[in-house]
Amino acid sequence: MLRFALLGLLFLVIARTFWRLVDGVVRGVTGEPEPRGRSAGPRATAVKMSPCPVCGTYVVPASGVRAEVRGQTYLFCSAACCSTFMSRA
Ligand SMILES: [Zn+2]
Repeated sequence: MLRFALLGLLFLVIARTFWRLVDGVVRGVTGEPEPRGRSAGPRATAVKMSPCPVCGTYVVPASGVRAEVRGQTYLFCSAACCSTFMSRA
């Protein structure tokens, strides 16, 4: 009986984590603001994600690879995509 309860709890935690992730990605793509006001202030939570110009993966600016090509700054998901883009340009 205890095992069943623990499994249920584990499933709940995983499901919640999954939906928070999906919700976050959807919000990042559509640019929708967070409905529940976080106390950190309006500027702290707004992270604009942009698609990698090579593979289309949405990248958070803090974790992406930045490169300047002909005066324009691009954000790539990885160094591999960055070099692919450079060889094409
Ligand atoms: Zn990429």
